[in-house]
Amino acid sequence: MTEKVFNICPRCGEPFRTSALSRLDNKTRICSPCGNWEAMMDYRFLMNTGSIEQINDVLNILGTIKGKQGITNKHEFKYFEKIETILNVKLEKLNKSN
Ligand SMILES: [Zn+2]
Repeated sequence: MTEKVFNICPRCGEPFRTSALSRLDNKTRICSPCGNWEAMMDYRFLMNTGSIEQINDVLNILGTIKGKQGITNKHEFKYFEKIETILNVKLEKLNKSN
C-alpha cells in the first residue's frame, strides 16, 4: 500500500504536508504559506472597502496586478477574480442605495 505523503499545492506548485483550505472555493487544499497569503490578500483587498471610492481604488489595483506579466498561475488569477466579483457586488449595492 502506498501512502501519498506529499500533495502539490495548486497555487505555488510546491509539495506540502500541512495544508489550508483555499479561500477561492473553500474546497481546494493549498499549502499553508499560500493559505496565509490568501488570508493577507483577503484582508488587504476586502477590508476598508465601504465606499464606492475605496472599492474603485482596490479594483484598479487588482486590474494592475492581473495585467502584470508573471501571473500565469491559474489559481492566483482565479483568486483575484473572486475578490473582484465580491467587490463588484458590493459596488452594485452601493450604487443602488445612492
Ligand atoms: Zn502553495
